[in-house]
Amino acid sequence: MKPCVRIQTSSFDEVSVQIQCRPSFLELADDDELLPISDVEVVGKAYCVEKSIIFTGNVRACFSLPCAVCNQRFDLNVSLTEWTHEEGWQKVQGREWDLSEPIREALLLQVPFYPRCGGEECCCREEIDKYLYSGTKPFEALEKIIT
Ligand SMILES: [Zn+2]
Repeated sequence: MKPCVRIQTSSFDEVSVQIQCRPSFLELADDDELLPISDVEVVGKAYCVEKSIIFTGNVRACFSLPCAVCNQRFDLNVSLTEWTHEEGWQKVQGREWDLSEPIREALLLQVPFYPRCGGEECCCREEIDKYLYSGTKPFEALEKIIT
């Protein structure tokens, strides 16, 4: 199922949109690191302005993906708030308006390029810092000799 807005009449009044659909329309490969783990929720309204049809509303989805620091999988909620998409009215007149492509693009743009399991930081950062900064300082002995 795809997120489509049903438009049947030629004079199109505002319609409220409330769609919940399987994330398969996002067309992510099974072996992709980014896995959708919830339905995609689309809530808003669609209306016409002159020669355009406009959707505005909120889109929500949830993905599982590996942290760029510790490689642990974590859940990432992605939401588009007050997201707007506009298309020429002629293209969709009398048909279903398929929003899957623009929703897919907008959602994937929200996924950080460098995802971290704690949001801003990796949750395991302290754990990793221990390995990075603790232990022996290889040049300590050398410093003592020089000074
Ligand atoms: Zn992490």
